[in-house]
Amino acid sequence: RSDLKPIWCPGCGDYGVVTALYRALASIGRPPHEIAFISGIGCSSRIPGYTTAYGFNTVHGRALPVAQGIKMAKPDLLVLVAGGDGDGFSIGGGHVAHAIRRNLDLTYIVMDNHIYGLTKGQLSPTTPRGAVTPSSSHGSMEDPVNPLLYVLAYGAGFVAQGVPADMDGLTKVIEEAIRYPGFSFVNVQSPCVTFGDPEDQAKVQKTKMRKLAAEGHDPSNRLRAMELAQEYGTSLYTGVFYRNPNPPPSYDSLIRERQKTLQA
Ligand code: SF4
Repeated sequence: RSDLKPIWCPGCGDYGVVTALYRALASIGRPPHEIAFISGIGCSSRIPGYTTAYGFNTVHGRALPVAQGIKMAKPDLLVLVAGGDGDGFSIGGGHVAHAIRRNLDLTYIVMDNHIYGLTKGQLSPTTPRGAVTPSSSHGSMEDPVNPLLYVLAYGAGFVAQGVPADMDGLTKVIEEAIRYPGFSFVNVQSPCVTFGDPEDQAKVQKTKMRKLAAEGHDPSNRLRAMELAQEYGTSLYTGVFYRNPNPPPSYDSLIRERQKTLQA
């Protein structure tokens, strides 16, 4: 935790995300100099600055390529990547599929508030159809991207969702994601209190939240996870959608093996 005070709007969901992250990292116990925290551009991408890990606020949408380069160069670093839904699924959308198939051992946290908050509330790739925003004054005519289904379809080995209103649950999924030995993804429905839909706010989320574990979901069942993920935007499931019970070797572990072979 750095001494810098976050400059998010009072009540922004991102405060909950950084708190959950502090707790998860405290439980994991890696010192800050062993952690690299990479982000893109947007309100949520300020988050590395509120930790004492190595941090890099990259250009818009390019957090994943930079993070993958860092992990390849320094495979022993714990690499975290964070950003918003616009950064991850619009400007940087093309990088997500390749990060997943390459499968470096890193954790990607998307603070999904269904809006571009930093630039004052325009449509983002996860804005619901019909939403009225400064860039869709008569209601959006586009269907949103489904981040959960997107990453599951590309084969991500760990996929979870959390909300800041459930701090224990959010901490748990972030910790599990970091411990997963490969690409892991956590979608956080992180409310934008200034420009977001009142239906997205923390109090409402608390009433709508459905914990996957309490509903008996088996996170090793990928097809069921995909079925549940299709309810993105209608049901608010939290917890682990999918955890590959037999994780394949990560790209960084393959690099280490290849180096040993070539040096032998
Ligand atoms: Fe958070 Fe929205 Fe304020 Fe950005 S504009 S800091 S997302 S509440």
